Amino acid sequence: MSDQNPFHIAQQQFDTAADILGLHENIRAVLRVPQRELTVNFPVKLDNGSTRMFTGYRIQHNLGRGPVKGGIRYHPAVDIDEVRALAMWMTWKCALVNIPYGGAKGGVIVDPKQLSMGELERLTRRFATEISILLGPERDIPAPDVGTNAQVMAWIMDTISMHRGYTVPAVITGKPINVGGSLGRVEATGRGVSLVVREAVRRLGGDLEGLRVVVQGFGNVGSTAAYLLDQMGCKVVGVADATSAYCRPSGLDIGAMRTYTDRHSFRLLEGYHAPGVERISGAELLELDCDVLIPAALENQINERNAGRIKAKLIVEGANGPTTPDADNILAERGVTVVPDILANAGGVIVSYFEWVQGLQEFFWDEQDVNEKLERIIIGAFDHVWATAYARKLPLRTAAYLLSVQRVADANVTRGVYP
Ligand code: NAD
Repeated sequence: MSDQNPFHIAQQQFDTAADILGLHENIRAVLRVPQRELTVNFPVKLDNGSTRMFTGYRIQHNLGRGPVKGGIRYHPAVDIDEVRALAMWMTWKCALVNIPYGGAKGGVIVDPKQLSMGELERLTRRFATEISILLGPERDIPAPDVGTNAQVMAWIMDTISMHRGYTVPAVITGKPINVGGSLGRVEATGRGVSLVVREAVRRLGGDLEGLRVVVQGFGNVGSTAAYLLDQMGCKVVGVADATSAYCRPSGLDIGAMRTYTDRHSFRLLEGYHAPGVERISGAELLELDCDVLIPAALENQINERNAGRIKAKLIVEGANGPTTPDADNILAERGVTVVPDILANAGGVIVSYFEWVQGLQEFFWDEQDVNEKLERIIIGAFDHVWATAYARKLPLRTAAYLLSVQRVADANVTRGVYP
């Protein structure tokens, strides 16, 4: 099995673009590593009276284009190299959709499903305090990622606000609407994914009606993408989360599955039953007969072991880093189109940017306004990437990297090396 370290993969992807761009070795050295890394070890009081230590990270990859932006992940498999990779991918994503941010990411090694609400709140408030030396509306603005949600964002916003002595809504995005969140933010990543599927299918000469879609991951991104594509006429024939996977060749009832997960703790699909629905393994899900595959869970899900057996002709990356470089090569040889993460899932950070702008201006937009602006930006980036890939006969990922790495390099070179 080849190297699956996400940071090594992120560096390899960057190197490919840097080689094609002929990037000077000085700027290449700057962009290949994160600018700032903070590791925090901190205690949390548990409900049983004991205290447990946790480890978390906040990593800022590059500040050249503005304050840094990126989610906070709560997952037992978080490690520093995963957070480094996710921070680097955020830099390219923000540059690709041309919003004025650098990239960052945070994470805590924890399984949030094992904690009570009280423990989760105490962990969040202490972690926010530990990384508060980096945060601020003009410095570093976190958002939700795997294992975190709007409530966690509200606790972080409240914690930072308590320290400052006044409310600082723009220190974080993905907040609930009643504390300064943006309409459309919860659905934004999945909505962006569905728009990208629509555009890619059009370009490939297909039609959304009856298009067979498989979605891995049924959290914020996966369940929204599945729901919106179902509404757009597609047939979602398979979905999975960390607990279970289901398929139905005539199409799953995504609305019913969302209602099911809403009623159960941690929104899991485990135990779902419906006529004609077959339970399959997570590995089988990725290899189902379908037209479009949307990985929307974690990294390295599509790799050298299964890439040769994937039947979808189009893969749209809802997750960050779901496809390894080896799998990319196998898929390219087989004529499978892969729309890369930094483009496909950029809807989240685009609407996070809108939330930050609205918070700073204290002037809020209606949902239609948010969705229209999101569509304009993500489709504009899609067109740019598609045209570049076509003109230079490159995979979409490489084309996306050429555009974004060049933008980040230009900003850093223009600013110069201090002092
Ligand atoms: P989430 O925590 O809401 O959902 C994650 C889902 O993945 C859950 O359903 C979980 O059960 C499932 N999952 C975990 N391991 C799995 C496995 N091995 N097989 C199948 N399913 C598995 O997280 P999310 O916010 O939806 O994030 C999903 C992906 O999208 C991540 O890669 C994240 O970085 C990326 N992303 C999220 C956002 C956002 O706005 N939330 C934005 C851009 C990218």
